[in-house]
Formats: sequence, structure tokens, C-alpha cells
Amino acid sequence: MKIGILSRNSKLYSTNSLVKAAESAGHEVHVIDYLRCHMNIASMRPSIFLGDKELTGFDAVIPRIGASRTFFGTAVVRQFEIMGVYSANESVAISRSRDKLRSLQLLARRGIGLPVTTFAHDTKATGHMIKLCGGAPIVVKLLEGTQGVGVVLAETAKAAESVIEAFRGLDANILAQEFIKEAGGADIRCLVVGDKVIASMKRQGKEGEFRSNLHRGGNAAVVKITPEERSTAVRAARIMGLSLAGVDLLRSNHGPVVMEVNSSPGLEGIEKATGKDVAGQIIKFIESSVGKVSSRTKGKG
Ligand code: ADP
Ligand code: MG
Repeated sequence: MKIGILSRNSKLYSTNSLVKAAESAGHEVHVIDYLRCHMNIASMRPSIFLGDKELTGFDAVIPRIGASRTFFGTAVVRQFEIMGVYSANESVAISRSRDKLRSLQLLARRGIGLPVTTFAHDTKATGHMIKLCGGAPIVVKLLEGTQGVGVVLAETAKAAESVIEAFRGLDANILAQEFIKEAGGADIRCLVVGDKVIASMKRQGKEGEFRSNLHRGGNAAVVKITPEERSTAVRAARIMGLSLAGVDLLRSNHGPVVMEVNSSPGLEGIEKATGKDVAGQIIKFIESSVGKVSSRTKGKG
């Protein structure tokens, strides 16, 4: 097969890992810097170019779209979809996953366990939002933050009000969320490929840190997940429409709750923590999906 990896940098661990896995399975692989692509949105013959070279003959693409490049990146993925190329994750699903509010609403609609989460435009609602979250401490987070940036623990109702008002004053969209204290600064990352969790790890924030993100200095260890956690992760990925997802769960007193669903999960942390060949399994999944899986949203906005 001819596989394109839509990534800005072939030296990134995840990109490199996928390239090696695809090559060792005998495929032709190209890393495509999607920001350098341009496309012709022609009705009869849609096409895409990298510089002056037309990109043709691809059987599959694996999108690794950076969080700050979602708009252009998903347009590139959509163009490949319109051209009939299989994408490991569909463009609509990637767009959904990048908006925490939209994602949580979709998951809530299908009964997935979530922390109590509130959202408002008007700061007059702040007092009631804090109350709905069960009172302080609460977590306030930017709708489109990543790697733990823009996630704040407000210890008191006064602090929560100030943080919410400050963010709103900057016209930022934020969620206010019940603080799952019993998670103890840890979360569970489940790597879902197709309809299976192929690897999972527990990430623990560093001392005194409630955020477990590895980018914030957290560390990762292999973990055995419960059947309920496994089925929650698989269902969450399916509801989002993602074939490839990193589903983050917190262990709460009322069972597993979903934090977020990532459409470009990093492979370094999970491959190193579990010793599993995650990239190899992703390539195997793509081999079994090309030409067989027909998507419901292919190329749709
Ligand atoms: P990001 O997209 O920046 O990673 P998250 O929503 O995943 O943002 O939050 C970052 C981390 O902060 C989570 O992995 C988790 O450890 C912690 N966290 C976030 N929300 C809560 C919450 N409601 N209760 C407890 N911990 C939380
Ligand atoms: Mg996160």
C-alpha cells in the first residue's frame, strides 16, 4: 500500500514510529507536511499538491494534525476523503475531538460517565455553575487547551469566581467541572484502535500537581484496566467516530469518567510504558480497513 502520514515533522517519535512500522510491513510511506499542501476543490477531479507535485495513488492517510492547526489540517484530511482515500481518522471526528464541549455533549448524549460539567457565556451564571459542580474545589478549563495548559484547579468558590471572570474577560470559552479528587492526580490513557483497547497506561502527575499530563512532568506506568473501563473507552471512541483514539479516564467514586478523547494520541509514552508495538498494530488495523470500511461521514463537514 501507499500510505501518507500527515505530519509536520518526520522526526517526531510518533511519526517516526509509524513510518518504521509501515516500512517493515512492506508499505511505501510518505510523511506529508500538510501545511505545505494546497488543494484544488474541483467537482470532477479534486486534487491535492505538495509544492508543485500532485499527491496521487495513496491508499490510506494517517492524520497527525497539531492542535493549533486543526482548521487547515482537517481540510487536507477532508480533501483526501473526497478523493476516495481511506483516512485512519475522519476529518469530522478530528474536528469534534478538538472541542471539549462538543465532545462531552456527544458523550453525554449516549450516557458515557463524565465529571459534572457546566458551560456559560454570561458570568452572572458563575455562582450557579459552581453550585452545580458540587461547590469548590472545581476545575476550570479552556475549551481548546492541550497538554494541561489552561486547566486550573480553583480551591475556593472565590478563587473559582475570579478565574472564571478573568477568562471570560478575555473572551475565552471555558468549562467549569466537578473536581474528581479521588483520582489523586492520576488518569488512565486507553489507546483505542478500531474497537479494541490495545494498550493502556496510568499517568501520575508529579508531586503536588493534579494534572497528570506527561508534558507537565507526570510519569507513566502500565496498568490493568477493568472491563468497565475498557468498554467505556471503546464506546467513547466509537461515539466520537474515531478509529484511532487516546481516551483519558479518571477513576471516580462513581466509576470511570471520561476526561477527553484525543485524535492524535502520542505513541512515545504508551509504547515505552507498555513495551507494546502500538504503531505496528495501527498499521495492521489500516491494512484490514482499507477498501472494507465504508464511512458514513466520508468527506462531509
Ligand atoms: P488537556 O487537554 O490540556 O490535557 P484535560 O482536560 O485532559 O486537558 O486536563 C488535564 C489533566 O488535568 C487531566 O489529565 C487530569 O489529570 C486533570 N484534570 C482535568 N480535569 C479534572 C477534573 N475534573 N478532576 C480531576 N482532575 C482533572
Ligand atoms: Mg488531557
